[in-house]
Amino acid sequence: MRTHYCGDLREQHIGETVTLCGWVHRRRDHGGVIFLDMRDRAGIVQVVFDPDTQEAFALADKVRSEYVLKITGRVRMRDEAVRNSKIPTGSIEVLGKQIEILNQADTPPFPVDEYANVGEEVRLRHRYVDLRRPEMIERFRFRSKVTSLMRRYLDEQGFLDVETPILTRATPEGARDYLVPSRTHPGQFFALPQSPQLFKQLLMVAGFDRYYQVAKCFRDEDLRADRQPEFTQIDLEMSFVNEEDVMGVAEGMFRTLFKELMGVEFAPLQRMTYADAMRDYASDKPDLRIPLKLVDVADLMQNVDFKVFAEPAKDPKGRLVALRLPKGGEQLSRSQIDDYTKFVGIYGAKGLAWIKVNDLAQGVAGLQSPIVKFIEPIALDLMKRVGAENGDIVFFGAGKAKIVNDSMGALRIKLGHDLKLFTQQWAPLWVVDFPMFEEGDDGSWAACHHPFTQPKVPVEQFAAQKATATARAYDLVLNGTELGGGSIRIHDPRMQKAVFDTLGISDEEAQEKFGFLLDALRFGAPPHGGLAFGLDRLVMLMTGADSIRDVIAFPKTQTAACLMTAAPGDVDAKQLRELGIRLREKEQPKG
Ligand code: ASP
Repeated sequence: MRTHYCGDLREQHIGETVTLCGWVHRRRDHGGVIFLDMRDRAGIVQVVFDPDTQEAFALADKVRSEYVLKITGRVRMRDEAVRNSKIPTGSIEVLGKQIEILNQADTPPFPVDEYANVGEEVRLRHRYVDLRRPEMIERFRFRSKVTSLMRRYLDEQGFLDVETPILTRATPEGARDYLVPSRTHPGQFFALPQSPQLFKQLLMVAGFDRYYQVAKCFRDEDLRADRQPEFTQIDLEMSFVNEEDVMGVAEGMFRTLFKELMGVEFAPLQRMTYADAMRDYASDKPDLRIPLKLVDVADLMQNVDFKVFAEPAKDPKGRLVALRLPKGGEQLSRSQIDDYTKFVGIYGAKGLAWIKVNDLAQGVAGLQSPIVKFIEPIALDLMKRVGAENGDIVFFGAGKAKIVNDSMGALRIKLGHDLKLFTQQWAPLWVVDFPMFEEGDDGSWAACHHPFTQPKVPVEQFAAQKATATARAYDLVLNGTELGGGSIRIHDPRMQKAVFDTLGISDEEAQEKFGFLLDALRFGAPPHGGLAFGLDRLVMLMTGADSIRDVIAFPKTQTAACLMTAAPGDVDAKQLRELGIRLREKEQPKG
C-alpha cells in the first residue's frame, strides 16, 4: 500500500511522489492550509494540504486524531522558518495530493501526541493506544535488537534454540506455581514453568551440548515494582563446562550487547565473593556506582556501656556496622537525619545512631552525637576505623544481621540517590561463591540458588560441611540489579539426593516430583551448567525505563491482572465441570 514509512523521509526524497500509511498524530488548521502530522512506527512527518487540491483538502478537513489514512503527495523542502530540528523529518514536508480514509477512530482515551499525565490503569486498559506513543515503540524496537543480537551471538557460539514445554510440572525456583487443571486427567494439574531449568538439564543429558531459549517463565509471587508474573529469560545451558566457561559466554554476550547497542565498552567484569559483597555493601547485588562502604565495628563495641551496641556486638547472629558519609555532617540537617531514621525503620531497624565529625583535632569533644557519651573510650578508634574526616557523618546499624543488612544496605543506596553520589553510569560485576543453603527462621534449609546447583564440596564430605558449603553459582549484577544468575549443576545422583535430603525432601517426594531427573542422572549425565538473564530487567536498564511494565508489550498490574483482556476471568460452569472442578465459594467479579 505504501512506498515509504512516514518517519523515514529525508531531504534525499525531495521531489519524489510518495504514498504513506499511518495515523493522524495531530491536525492543525492554519488559515486555509491544513497540516497533518502523520505517524507510523518509524516516526512522524508533516503533510500539508492546500485548497488547490480540493478533494484532498476537504477530506483533510474532516479527519481527526488517530484516523488511519493513506496519503499520496510530493516531498518538498520546508520553508526555512518552519524547519523543526527536533524530529528527523523536520527539514522536509509532504505536499498532500490524495487522501484515503482507511479507518476512522473515536477520540482516543488519552492523547498520543503529548505527554499526558494519565493513570497507568487507563494506559494499560488501552495498551494498543499507549504503545503507539513513539517512546514506547522505540523501547520495543530496542528490545527486539537485544533479543536478535543475543540470538546471533549464541547461534555463532554453537547454541541450539530449543523450545521446552509450558504445560509441565513444578520447577522449583522458590516461587508459587501457576497451575493449569487437566481435563483429560481430572483432579490433576500442570504447572507453568518457573524456568526451563529441568528441561535444559535434560537436554544436556541428551547430548545437545549447548542450548538456549528466549523463554517465558511464570512465578506466582507477590509483585514488586520490578516483578511480573510472567517474564522472559534468555536461558542457556552448556555441557562439559566449569564456571569460567559459562561466565565467559554470558559475559561475552553482555559486553557485546552494550558495545553494539549502547556504544559502551566494558573491561573484563569485576568479581566479588558473596561474603565480601555482604560485608562491604550488605547486599548480594551491590550497586557499585555508589562509593560508600559499610565497615564492621562489632569488635570495638564488645565492652561499651551501651546495650544497643554491646548486645549485637556479642550476638553471633548480630551485626554492627558503620557507614561513613563524607561531608555528610555538613550537608544533612537534623530533620533529614530524622527522615533517614524513619527510612531504616521500614526495614525493621529500631533506630539510626549517628556521629557528626566536627573537629577531630579536639578529640571526643569534636564529635557531635547523642550516643557519643556512651562509647567515649572507643569513639576515636571508631573514627579511625571508618577513616572519618572533619565534616563527615557516620551512621550506625546494630541488631540482627538480617535487619542490619537490609536497612543499612538500603540506606547506602538511598544516600547515593538523594545526594547524587554516583561515580559512573554502569557498574556491572559478578557475584560468586554464594552459600549453598540459607537457614530459615524455623530452622529449615532452603537452596540459595536452586536445588540443582552443585555445592563446592565432594559428595563424601557433604554431610559434614554442608552448613558452610558454598555453591558453584554466579550472578551478574548491574547497577544494583540482578541481571542474571546460574550455576554448575549436580550431575551425580548421590549428590542430588544429599541436597534433597538437606532440603527436607524425602526420597518418596523426590521420586514423585523429580524422578525423571534422578533417572536421567543415572543414564549418563555429563557435567553441565548454565545461566539465565532476565530480559525485561536488562532492557529496562538499557532503555532507562522506570518500570519493567514499560518494556513488556502487555504487562500485568501489581495484582497480576491484565486490565485490557480482563484476565484472569470467570469460566462457565460447563468448562469447570469438564475439568472436574467445583468452586468452593464463588468470588463476585470485581468492579
Ligand atoms: N533457572 C535459573 C533461574 O531461572 C537460572 C539457571 O540456574 O540457569 O534463575
